[in-house]
Amino acid sequence: SQTNDQLSTFLKSGIYRFESSNALFIDPVRILNRSYTRFRVSPSSYYSRFFESNGAKDEPAATSTGSRRRKRKQKEKRLHTLNEREQIADQRHQEAKPLLLKAHEALLEATDLLAVIRNLRSERCSSEGCQDLFLPSIEQSFVELASVWQAPLYEITLNFPLYREPTEGGGLPLVHSSEQRLIPVFNNLVVNETSKDVEAEFLNTRYIIPRKSSFYMSDLGKIHDLIPAESDCGFNLILVDPPWENGSARQKLKYPTLPNRYFLSLPIKQLTHTEGALLALWVTNREKLRGFVEKELYPSWGVKYMATLYWLKVKADCILTSDLDLFHHRPYECLLLGYCHGEVHFKNLLSYCCRLEILNVYRDLNLYRIIKSSLVFLGTTLGSPQLEVYFPCFAHLVLNFCIGALSVSKFDSSQIHIMLCLSISELLLEYVPGSKPARCIELFAREMLGGWTSWGNEPLHFQESRYFSRT
Ligand code: SAM
Repeated sequence: SQTNDQLSTFLKSGIYRFESSNALFIDPVRILNRSYTRFRVSPSSYYSRFFESNGAKDEPAATSTGSRRRKRKQKEKRLHTLNEREQIADQRHQEAKPLLLKAHEALLEATDLLAVIRNLRSERCSSEGCQDLFLPSIEQSFVELASVWQAPLYEITLNFPLYREPTEGGGLPLVHSSEQRLIPVFNNLVVNETSKDVEAEFLNTRYIIPRKSSFYMSDLGKIHDLIPAESDCGFNLILVDPPWENGSARQKLKYPTLPNRYFLSLPIKQLTHTEGALLALWVTNREKLRGFVEKELYPSWGVKYMATLYWLKVKADCILTSDLDLFHHRPYECLLLGYCHGEVHFKNLLSYCCRLEILNVYRDLNLYRIIKSSLVFLGTTLGSPQLEVYFPCFAHLVLNFCIGALSVSKFDSSQIHIMLCLSISELLLEYVPGSKPARCIELFAREMLGGWTSWGNEPLHFQESRYFSRT
């Protein structure tokens, strides 16, 4: 049946598409694992990585008393009139609410999926020979290491496996030895150009580097080194998860944050491919930040807003992580999608502009039919059948996300946020302009993905071998 098909697709791909709403459910572990051949991201360590208990970093559980207090405060607040900024925020929320509710309803109706979600965290590696690499290790603070005088001397060792074809009887190629390469780890592009994941070693800790990926570990001041000499070597997909300041003291403990004005200096235009780029930007629900993005950041980056993807957060039992109407604690986050124009040549430009216009004008789902016919029409006129393909493009696409079997009271939303970040990359690829394969970069990355360049001051953070098992 159709639901069985959906589920088996999900089990393979990590993406479940609901027929009844334009929502998707994502399992980031399954998606990440497509980047690896010899290793697997292990679900249990993946989900636990956000809950290492070491004193001060551990958040006190948001007790039910706490949440009751919050609700009371909200109620009190509602009694007061909203100021202008709050009214805009509320309006945004009211627009999104029906879509989010519909998506959640679709999730709750997918009983076959619910059963799988309940056990996502405890899923074992399917291959029998799966061996946990969960060795105790001291977490490196790359930010601190980069600041010492020895930093330019630090090198990472990449162990590229050398394969020997199996003798009679066939079977998989065997690793027979490895070729070691020592490469400066900071302010340097470290590349695994091979189609297999490789093991790396840095200061007695092992890391797994996905196939066809690279990282550049540096401070913001050095990001200009990534600007390609030739603009047709720029990027078609730019994912940005900035360390926004959010005033919460606990977030400051996890990674350094930056005042908004620093992000104006990101060289987005110079990183964009001549054929243009899709830019996906994670934002918080603070209205002040949304205003900054629209009025200052996008204009300075040369980005045109297209659509919003909502990441709706659910617990293992698929209940929302907080009340949908909780003013300062929404159970969703937004990924803003926009286009950066490269020096697109004329033919592309035409179809490109149409796409932009359509998506901008008809952002409302109810206009689906109109858009569809416009697309067919435009497709014929411009001879660009891709236009049709482009449409499913979320007027508002809703993402559902599961947090495994964890109790939501134990963490704050920014932690779940992190988990989803790279996993949506696959969805985004459908909407990326330019020739394939798309060139993709994540800015402020803490993790790597096959086919991507990861930049930030700690892109190796979640590549440590403790998060993986060997297949
Ligand atoms: N997308 C990431 C993930 O999924 O794990 C989370 C990124 S987190 C919101 C922001 C990152 O920016 C952190 O790793 C932080 O250390 C890094 N960062 C903060 N200040 C920076 C700077 N001046 N230069 C480079 N990276 C910086």
